[in-house]
Amino acid sequence: MTESPVSQYGSDENGKLSYTMLIRRMTAILKAGVVKMKNEKLDKLFSSMARPSVRSIEAYKASEPPAKFVRLMANENNLGVSPKALEAMKTVLEDGNRYPESSCKMLREKLAARYGLKAEQILIGNGLDGVFTMFSRAFMEKGDEVVSGELTFSIYADNAQIMGATPVPVPMKDDLSFDVDGFIRAVTEHTKMVFFCNPNNPTGTMAAQADIVRMLDAMPAKTLFVLDEAYMDFADKPESYSFGLLAKYPNLVVARTFSKIYGLAGLRVGWVAAAPELLSYMNRVREPYGVTDISAAGAAAALDDAEFYAKSREVFLSERRSLCSFLDQLGVKYIPSQGNFVLLPLGARAERVNKALTDAGLIVRNISFRGKQYMRITLGLPVEDEQIKAALSKAFLD
Ligand code: PMP
Repeated sequence: MTESPVSQYGSDENGKLSYTMLIRRMTAILKAGVVKMKNEKLDKLFSSMARPSVRSIEAYKASEPPAKFVRLMANENNLGVSPKALEAMKTVLEDGNRYPESSCKMLREKLAARYGLKAEQILIGNGLDGVFTMFSRAFMEKGDEVVSGELTFSIYADNAQIMGATPVPVPMKDDLSFDVDGFIRAVTEHTKMVFFCNPNNPTGTMAAQADIVRMLDAMPAKTLFVLDEAYMDFADKPESYSFGLLAKYPNLVVARTFSKIYGLAGLRVGWVAAAPELLSYMNRVREPYGVTDISAAGAAAALDDAEFYAKSREVFLSERRSLCSFLDQLGVKYIPSQGNFVLLPLGARAERVNKALTDAGLIVRNISFRGKQYMRITLGLPVEDEQIKAALSKAFLD
């Protein structure tokens, strides 16, 4: 039955509500009221049941733009999935009726061989997010302090809060890089963990090896130092010295992911390298089947796909250079980046810039820091970055 204009809009062409429509509308309003009341009651009930440290936390808001938008907001690899990884995953799909191999042995051995480690020094999780959850469960409790940057990956502080621990933010320097001495000063006898993101998300700034070593030397043995190198592959000079430091510093944890340059964000594979004795406590709290065999096979194949890795690096680095020189020409400020993204302070132009980008179908990440608006643009394919440049020109030159 087709709907008449009256039943669709609730009024006839003279704008008058029909009697039936009036009743329907009133019923709908009353129903909505009852649902709201019920929701409030339920909310009260579950709030009283939830752990106190969880009550005031807001759920993580992942940006999910409609399909037609160009995704430049989540630091993904827009080149897609490595063809070798895709092939490897297809063959494993047929074993989907079986539980996965619980510890990702094959992938751990592969990573160990690549980075000069032992397989026991590696732990793999459902993305680095999943691994960080294991850290919370194994190590954080009320009274603990968790140190991280004032402007960094928000999950570090969120996890601390969930566990009832206290997040301790280290103020950024004026150029928005990390204050290494500030990190050292922030550590007290209560500090359980320090999260140092290098290169940092969302600023793209990177600390030197000497600074990392200086912080490690200053850490008490009972403070874990997590060096999150999710974006290391995009650095002008990707470093792997951190793995060599594990022998000297048993409280060091090096974190990496397959979500970024390896193009597998949707497959959820992240990993850490650390002392086996430390990882043993993570293994006690981890989900038994946190990583599927499909994801592990994809990650292993991606690790072997040197061509996809090299191509990705080439595209990201040349896009970064190109976007930055474009911004230089336009006279627009940005933070020099070693990641696959660039952070721009927007100031008074924030609204205009955001509108220009949305109108052009481009989605980036908006960030508010100390009351000021910033925009983090993930580098995309050359054709997508040209769209970004066009939209920025429009917003800044008009
Ligand atoms: N660390 C940093 C610095 C990140 O930016 C992200 C994700 N954006 C993660 C870890 C989590 O990565 P994963 O996809 O492996 O959970």
